Amino acid sequence: MATSLGSNTYNRQNWEDSDFPILCQTCLGENPYIRMTKEKFGKECKICARPFTVFRWCPGVRMRFKKTEVCQTCSKMKNVCQTCLLDLEYGLPIQVRDTGLSVKDEVPRSDVNKEYYTQNMEREIANSDGTRPVGLLGKAPSSSDMLLKLARTTPYYKRNRPHICSFWVKGECKRGEECPYRHEKPTDPDDPLADQNIKDRYYGINDPVANKLLTRASSMPRLDLPEDKSITTLYIGGLGEDVTDSELRNHFYQFGEIRTITIVQRQQCAFIQFATRQAAETAAEKSFNKLIINGRRLNVKWGRSQAARGKEKDGVTESGIRLDPVPGLPGALPPPPVSDEDASNNYFNLPPTSSHAVMNLGLPPPPGVAMPPPPGFGPPMFHTMDPMAPPMPPPMAMRPPGQVHYPSQDPQRMGAHASRHGGP
Ligand SMILES: [Zn+2]
Ligand SMILES: [Zn+2]
Ligand SMILES: [Zn+2]
Repeated sequence: MATSLGSNTYNRQNWEDSDFPILCQTCLGENPYIRMTKEKFGKECKICARPFTVFRWCPGVRMRFKKTEVCQTCSKMKNVCQTCLLDLEYGLPIQVRDTGLSVKDEVPRSDVNKEYYTQNMEREIANSDGTRPVGLLGKAPSSSDMLLKLARTTPYYKRNRPHICSFWVKGECKRGEECPYRHEKPTDPDDPLADQNIKDRYYGINDPVANKLLTRASSMPRLDLPEDKSITTLYIGGLGEDVTDSELRNHFYQFGEIRTITIVQRQQCAFIQFATRQAAETAAEKSFNKLIINGRRLNVKWGRSQAARGKEKDGVTESGIRLDPVPGLPGALPPPPVSDEDASNNYFNLPPTSSHAVMNLGLPPPPGVAMPPPPGFGPPMFHTMDPMAPPMPPPMAMRPPGQVHYPSQDPQRMGAHASRHGGP
């Protein structure tokens, strides 16, 4: 490239003369005792076109020589490596980083505006303590879930390998072993730095690598916020046998006040109700797809709204069985007598006689009467229970087969303690 040191009209005092480059660990290489050459005002910055101090070094054995490509002001403005232009914190292209943090590029493209902007930014950089990026980036949220998932946290030294020998690809390289370039088939179209336009990458547009990463991010599983803002309950599935209330509390209390934790042993799941929606949202974001307790990866979902639950009589079980709404089921009244057809709808793999008892769950108990939940069900309803409620009905399995149990007609709750349906 043309290094127009003489023709550049920029005030020479603003030319960069730094002692150390700003580099990512990958570009720096593995060797801590690296030797660098430094050339004052050696080239024009590929972004702002002002002369800057160019560093050259070899990042490791059999690696290609690298040099800084943009000036330190341009690097600081975007918090990127002076050589590879990847974000210094996440190791990601600017376009991905800015999308993740919802930052919009504000660097002007016209020469005059650019110079003015750069000078302003330089002033801002000089006044900052250097711990935070300047400009919009410094004001952006400090992190995003997507960036944490995509981020490269360890150096990727392979990126420093020599480029592929173009002569060898054509079968014409005569240097053999001595050839400093790689004698490999160009099977690596994904090399993040191959054939990219440095300005596009800096401004965060049309970056093929970024587009690929963003496509990958959009196909990652995610948890959508329920529209019903009254939902503050998270469903935690796949608990296994021995996850306890306090283990769940230990993880979830950090996100905000927990109203209730209800573990449903039978379904190996739990419902965690937070006091605020904000706490529930934070907990969902920080736990989804990454909550591991006792070595088990737990399944985090949003709870369902009361309205939806009432309508569908407790929609979907953990095993994915959907419970169809039963049309015409009266509110607080006992369900109609069971027919053979109805009894065959075995929604929860319970003994055949229990299906109606389960479906009653979503309904409010009649005034003054507490409704004992069937075994293993209805945790979100527990708080409505009267502590003075009569003991649970005998487990389904203990009743004679073929007998229908209606909680709302349970003789025990009517005070008829003497009579029991075939209890022990
Ligand atoms: Zn620059
Ligand atoms: Zn780098
Ligand atoms: Zn070669």
